[in-house]
Amino acid sequence: MKALAKVKPEVGLWQVERAVPEIGPEDVLIKVRKTGICGTDIHIWNWDDWAARTVPVGLVTGHEFAGEIVAMGALVEGLEIGQRCSGEGHLIGKLSRQSRAGKFHLDPATRGIGVNDQGAFAEYLRLPAFNVVPLPDSIDDEIGAILDPLGNAVHTALSFDLVGEYMLITGAGPIGIMAAAVARHVGARHVVITDVNPARLELAAQVADVVPVNVAETDLRSVYPSLKMSQGFDVGMEMSGNHQALDQMVDKLVMGGRIAMLGIPPGKSPVDWSRIVFKAITIKGVYGREIFETWYKMIAMLENGLDVRRVIIHRFRADVFVTGFETMRSGLSGKVVLDWG
Ligand code: ZN
Repeated sequence: MKALAKVKPEVGLWQVERAVPEIGPEDVLIKVRKTGICGTDIHIWNWDDWAARTVPVGLVTGHEFAGEIVAMGALVEGLEIGQRCSGEGHLIGKLSRQSRAGKFHLDPATRGIGVNDQGAFAEYLRLPAFNVVPLPDSIDDEIGAILDPLGNAVHTALSFDLVGEYMLITGAGPIGIMAAAVARHVGARHVVITDVNPARLELAAQVADVVPVNVAETDLRSVYPSLKMSQGFDVGMEMSGNHQALDQMVDKLVMGGRIAMLGIPPGKSPVDWSRIVFKAITIKGVYGREIFETWYKMIAMLENGLDVRRVIIHRFRADVFVTGFETMRSGLSGKVVLDWG
């Protein structure tokens, strides 16, 4: 089969021929139809310090996918050949206290497809049946391929009660934009999204009913009067990994405000803890998706009118993946989806 692998410890990915994966008794084999390119895949492409430390050379990468079950192990129950599906890319252990308590997303032994184990940038993917998420007819393969990052957005957005709240999202990448759409869908009063990249803010306004603010040009406080805001934002979602953005968020939050953090600041960043203490702010780190509650909620919202399709702005055949990656690396893009046929 065709696959995209990290053949050499340097910048890039290479198309390779690999054997179709063999499945164990509790696995399924998935014919991959569409895959999304993630920021993580760009780190792997760029072969930065994190990637060089984490990803074994030779690995088939990719973790955002939709496809169809074409083979099943002898012990698999409740699934059928021909079932369209996406799936949770975090392969969890079953032995930890967290797993045994049903908090699968907090299992410390988690391995990621396309990061630690063979990934989805391939014609076929082996996946434990446990990880399969069947897709209803209402969710096509293209949306199926971005459920992983949409799940990050949903997990972050549902971290706190948003009904009637003023929300600030820092970072208008695809996940920030989708989180904004989710926040509006569940009843946030207003969502302000910030970035310093005009193209991303423009895309945010096309995808979701949000107030985009370019913080390189505009003082965030200047939007307060038109939104009838007096004190500041009730809930923040940090999606940029930029420590100035986090500083700004702490500054603009109300007393008792809440922050969900998905953005990953590089290295250690200075934090003014005294302001966090005196404003009685709650901060929650968000990792992955709740398995499988986030998937359940996400599919329910998509079936109930949540629309994030416009965040996908480029579609390429898998054999022109280089163009897809270059588009992502330009920094201007929304989601890029590769078609595996
Ligand atoms: Zn991803």
